[in-house]
Amino acid sequence: MPGWLSLLELQNPLNGIDVTQMPTCAIENVQRYKALSRAELDVMMELPCECEQVPLQKLINQHSCSKCDGLYWYSFCMGDVVQESCTWHCTKCGTCRDWQEWHCLRCNRCSYGVTLPCDGCGSRERDPWI
Ligand SMILES: [Zn+2]
Ligand SMILES: [Zn+2]
Ligand SMILES: [Zn+2]
Ligand SMILES: [Zn+2]
Repeated sequence: MPGWLSLLELQNPLNGIDVTQMPTCAIENVQRYKALSRAELDVMMELPCECEQVPLQKLINQHSCSKCDGLYWYSFCMGDVVQESCTWHCTKCGTCRDWQEWHCLRCNRCSYGVTLPCDGCGSRERDPWI
């Protein structure tokens, strides 16, 4: 019953996709991922370490560079390949952030500087869930 199947898909867009290796950014942008054509997924992307080029498809999941072992994934927010240790996707802000940014509970926005208090409210109260 195709109608029933597409209804299920609507309710859970992650249905049928293995998300275990997927970075938060790809999971949050799964509709954009699904909208990519075969040709777009085959586009070769250069890793930030410049060791190798891999098709975009591989960067939807975390990809470790075969030469330097760096971990990379494709950020839908930035439209570019990012390094796992340098970038994270803030689900509250709905966008990718630099590793030096953290999400302030009081202001409900990200603040810059891991060792600094929030520049909005002076609090250090991080969101423990992200
Ligand atoms: Zn590399
Ligand atoms: Zn993102
Ligand atoms: Zn945030
Ligand atoms: Zn704040």
